[in-house]
Amino acid sequence: AKARGRNGYRFYAPSMTGEGVERLRLETFLRRSIEKNEIFLNYQPQVEIDTGRLIGVEALVRWNHPELGLVPPVRFIPLAEDSGFINQLGKWVLFEACRQMVRWQDAGLRVPKIAVNLSVKQFERGSIVNMVAEILKETGLEPERLQLEVTESVIMNTGDAMVFINDLHSIGVGLAIDDFGTGYSSLAYLKQLPVQTLKIDRSFITDISSDANDEAIAIAIIQLGKSMNLSVIAEGVETEEQAAFLLRHGCNQAQGYRYGRPALPQELIERWRD
Ligand code: C2E
Ligand code: CA
Ligand code: CA
Ligand code: CA
Repeated sequence: AKARGRNGYRFYAPSMTGEGVERLRLETFLRRSIEKNEIFLNYQPQVEIDTGRLIGVEALVRWNHPELGLVPPVRFIPLAEDSGFINQLGKWVLFEACRQMVRWQDAGLRVPKIAVNLSVKQFERGSIVNMVAEILKETGLEPERLQLEVTESVIMNTGDAMVFINDLHSIGVGLAIDDFGTGYSSLAYLKQLPVQTLKIDRSFITDISSDANDEAIAIAIIQLGKSMNLSVIAEGVETEEQAAFLLRHGCNQAQGYRYGRPALPQELIERWRD
């Protein structure tokens, strides 16, 4: 590789580590992933604990690269965020998720609601309300059946996030606070935001029956939700014991391997139709 450019600047800093090279390679691949049809969505069921009824699904993005294989989102989402690709990716995900809701409906499976993750970076270029409205119009999905998931950091770190979130509320889409309890406290913001749902982070659920602190936090979130008239859903529910605990403390909504792993659209039809 060429070491110096025309004016003597090094193109490749000698300090560039193997990790840096790998990152660059991933980023280059990632940029073409959509056009190469390597991106697809998995959907994970959200259920009512006592009845086992399907109340919604969460869309989770997947990247399958021919050489690298399945790259986990924790590896490529941060890259997409740093490179700005997240805006294109986020739009693709939203469109595909909304379109899938209509396809399921046509195939005889009515999924009440779809949850889609938004990155903090998608709020930095201005309001995304037009993009969302356009996708809803194009796919024909009712706004009430779309729930956007944002983390506390979106609310706390983005200057205009409150305005943008209110914009989204004004067109009828729902909003959930993801990984609730793990970020900065957003308790003061909660009462001003048009939020409908809190998602208890998996880290509080895993050891819920053995760790007194996790137990206390989960109970506190459930109570908070109740008193603010918000719905509360627990993520990462894997066992009967965790589900029973949640139900006992007034949380009747869950998502986790106990009810289904993230899966392809057809698998959801087979599992949940009728
Ligand atoms: P998240 O939004 O908190 O999503 C839940 C993650 O927990 C998913 O991981 C899911 O597969 C996993 N999970 C669900 N149930 C269980 C369980 O019972 N046990 C365990 N151990 N894990 C469970 P995944 O799909 O690897 O996604 C990781 C993160 O990547 C997501 O966390 C989300 O922050 C991000 N992500 C995924 N899809 C998108 C997307 O379309 N856009 C954006 N911006 N971020 C996304
Ligand atoms: Ca989520
Ligand atoms: Ca989450
Ligand atoms: Ca989480």
